[in-house]
Amino acid sequence: MSLIRDGWLRARDRPTLLPQSPSMMVDAATRRAELERRSAEWAGCTRCPLSESRTQVVIGSGDPDADLMFVGEAPGFHEDKQGVPFVGQAGKLLETLLEEIGLTREQVFIANVLKCRPPGNRDPLPAEIEACQGYLFTQIQLIRPVVICTLGNFATKLLSGSPQGITRVRGTPQAQTYGAVTVRLFPIYHPAAALYTPAMLEMLRSDFGRIPSLLSGNTGQEAEPPALVPVAAMEPPAASEEAQLSFQF
Ligand code: URA
Repeated sequence: MSLIRDGWLRARDRPTLLPQSPSMMVDAATRRAELERRSAEWAGCTRCPLSESRTQVVIGSGDPDADLMFVGEAPGFHEDKQGVPFVGQAGKLLETLLEEIGLTREQVFIANVLKCRPPGNRDPLPAEIEACQGYLFTQIQLIRPVVICTLGNFATKLLSGSPQGITRVRGTPQAQTYGAVTVRLFPIYHPAAALYTPAMLEMLRSDFGRIPSLLSGNTGQEAEPPALVPVAAMEPPAASEEAQLSFQF
């Protein structure tokens, strides 16, 4: 368990906070309205210096009552401009993989560990994650997903509460509880990494193939992975965008 996450949960679970706690809001319409209200508040966040360089806060997008949630790292150039997560090449791949399992991005909820773009798309700093993480945990409590796919190292470490990196835990579902919400956390590779590494793309596609089964409460191991599309058939990322992406594994 991470100190960062424990610290937040302890604060959220204080009895004095319970009457307003997202965990108390059981009705989907109430939770949806609360998420909208809080998102409007968060749009003016100045909790860390990223507020000075960002164009806008990228809170998340999709169905606020989704069973399936994806958590990436941080907005990039295009996300910062458009205010929507995963709209660049990595986002296009995410949409393609979703489509292959019969889902659209409107049917899931997509968010990031950081809600503001780090300059030059550098890695998130520990202080930025600490300042921002409460927003993600509140989103989880209000959305109440069944499965959360963490995309890459930063989301996986934060939501698993463990320092184990994505290459160690990728493809192994784990039960995690955040306040009153228990989810199946499914760590998978970040689509940006799969854009450049065919072997990762194959693993990512195979992991996506397990999501429907995980959503039904099974292990996902029994699912047949979808047919692999030759990597050469996928469009390479634009050179400008390639330069912006840097991920650690
Ligand atoms: N776009 C996002 O919104 N998040 C990422 O982690 C990468 C690209």
